[in-house]
Amino acid sequence: MPSLSLDQLLSPLVAWQGLRGRWGKLFEKLVGPRVADALWLLPQGLVDRRASPPLDQAQAGQIVTIFATVHEHRPPSRWGQPWKVRLSDGHGMVELVFFNPRAPYLNKILPPGGQVTVSGHLESFDGHLTMPHPDIIESGDARAEVAILEPVRPLTAGLTGRFVRQMVERFVAQLPEWDEWIDPALLRRQGWPSWRGALMQAHAPQDEAGLQPDHPARQRLAYDELLAQQLALALIRRHARRQPGRVMTVDGKLRLAVLQALPFRLTAAQDEVLAQIDADMASTWRMRRLLQGDVGSGKTVVAALACLNAISGGAQAALMVPTELLARQHAQTLTRILAPAGIDVLLLTGALKGAARQQALERLAQGDPVLAVGTHALFQKGVAFARLGLAVVDEQHRFGVHQRVHLADKGQDDDGKGADLLVMTATPIPRSLALTFFGDLDVSRLEGKPPGRSPVATRVLNRDRIEEVTAALQRAIARGEQAYWVCPLIGEDTPIEEQDKPPSEGALAAAVERHRALRRLWGDQVGLVHGRLKSEEKAQVMEAFVAGRIRVLVATTVIEVGVDVPSATVMVIEQAERFGMAQLHQLRGRVGRGTAASHCLLLYQGPLGQVARQRLQAMRQCDDGFVIAEEDLRLRGPGEILGARQSGLAAWRLADPVRHGDLLLTARDDVKLILERDPKLTSKRGQALRTLLALFQAREAVKTLESG
Ligand code: ADP
Ligand code: MG
Repeated sequence: MPSLSLDQLLSPLVAWQGLRGRWGKLFEKLVGPRVADALWLLPQGLVDRRASPPLDQAQAGQIVTIFATVHEHRPPSRWGQPWKVRLSDGHGMVELVFFNPRAPYLNKILPPGGQVTVSGHLESFDGHLTMPHPDIIESGDARAEVAILEPVRPLTAGLTGRFVRQMVERFVAQLPEWDEWIDPALLRRQGWPSWRGALMQAHAPQDEAGLQPDHPARQRLAYDELLAQQLALALIRRHARRQPGRVMTVDGKLRLAVLQALPFRLTAAQDEVLAQIDADMASTWRMRRLLQGDVGSGKTVVAALACLNAISGGAQAALMVPTELLARQHAQTLTRILAPAGIDVLLLTGALKGAARQQALERLAQGDPVLAVGTHALFQKGVAFARLGLAVVDEQHRFGVHQRVHLADKGQDDDGKGADLLVMTATPIPRSLALTFFGDLDVSRLEGKPPGRSPVATRVLNRDRIEEVTAALQRAIARGEQAYWVCPLIGEDTPIEEQDKPPSEGALAAAVERHRALRRLWGDQVGLVHGRLKSEEKAQVMEAFVAGRIRVLVATTVIEVGVDVPSATVMVIEQAERFGMAQLHQLRGRVGRGTAASHCLLLYQGPLGQVARQRLQAMRQCDDGFVIAEEDLRLRGPGEILGARQSGLAAWRLADPVRHGDLLLTARDDVKLILERDPKLTSKRGQALRTLLALFQAREAVKTLESG
């Protein structure tokens, strides 16, 4: 059989013989559009069909493959009865049993008097052997093909395992042997097979070990995928760095004015990150930087100083946040921070309407050197910046990737220079996922927290101890402190595009109910904020909380991100088991912002499953967002962490971010070396790597090689 060319491997599956019809469409849905995608459909399990005993020695409970003669058909005598077909092999009998049979079909595949091979699970009924719905029925003696250790692959409704296996195996049988793209030393050290060898082994596992992620063949394929991805991201990053950007330098006098007016000194970590940002902004290339910092690590002031760089040089800056509430609070904070430099801050949200909105838009379109703060309203149609120098996206995890890119695109000005991009996130992302998800960005980490914070003491409590909780709150209120009380989120954890939709009735009802109950204890000192309030109403409640008129704020997760109230010292979270760890950590970060001792009480509704219990215990023991994120990844897997919408980006077919984490780091280092030695991928290995990129559909990346 001739082997497949690269072009054939990249060609659409549905153009191939046997795949042009309805089954082809289903198969495409299962594996993806190209022939290469079919290769990634590795077996998940094995069925041993090798037992092929004479029927007088076969036993119920066994999976067997039988070659026998069709003795007789016994159609059902009454409606609802099965159709039975008796086979005999000269030693004994077996009865095939079909519920809801299609008679013509059964007569065709099991013609009376004909010889057939069947394989399936034997059962015993009324003292004789039966095989309900055989997995396989073939005419003639097909034992050589059927009585094997059969790999089982994932399926989609409407396809049979056999069809899928035949389609996959047909392509695997025609695999070409390429020049090796993996570093030969690594390949030897790991004892990995070639690409072709690895696929052949992975598709024909000989035992359970052959299905495991640490099998050499599986490891190699995982490494291929990771290497392709890391290489693609590095190429895109390199390309992006070469996009021309504005030169924006630090205005020493204005920065000093701002720094001197701050009630604190920047920490060493803040200074360090700021220096990285200053250098990026002063270069002639576009900045594309991710700033990762735990909740409360002090990202806002860093962003403010970066915006000052843009504005003091006559450009504009924009800061995008996920909610109106945050937009308001950030606008206030930034106005205060930047006032000593005489910087104007414009608040632009969906709530801004009419003449005021018009005026704001005009200022942006004219190129007034201001800082615009807003929600995703900032990148809607009709918002034009004349000279956007810097776009900051805060709490990036709430936005889709395309949104952050959108905002930066707004900065493309007449001379073709793009706005610098600073993406900030307080969702600590495990290194392995950060490399994937933000691989197109340079990463800064803001480690540690500003001085003077005491850690938040965390307790995990059954919900039936709620009276202890209210007693603790009572004491806090008596000390002049404040508290958050968060009710389960169902429905409010929606992507930003859908956030205008009301939360589910259940979530709202829980918060409303809790609010009512707590008001009975503390009257007007209890407030309520949730996603269904109008933004002005939300703002009013928040202001009352900030001012201390409201002492206990019952909330859904609208308070999750960014809100800053230093005198809040208690965070109660109901049904904490429903939240992700990163999210719990975010919520907990709302307290412990002042100097008073703070508490986080995680209430659960028992009984708790094993994983849920471990997750809550981990929250109690650990206060480092990065460590929590690693733990969450280990316990829940990547899809849950990035959220369904975002996980698409990190969707690996062959690699497992937990089991193959080390390989990811190896791949990253390997890519660094590759691009140092062979930046254009022209060497023999470079050419092989291009093939690898093509196989994994990294077209964008390959294009950057061609465009100079
Ligand atoms: P986050 O990184 O979560 O956005 P913020 O920027 O909101 O954190 O900062 C949290 C709090 O820490 C704010 O009240 C801020 O004024 C304060 N803060 C920031 N930097 C420092 C510092 N260097 N020293 C003391 N407090 C600081
Ligand atoms: Mg923040």
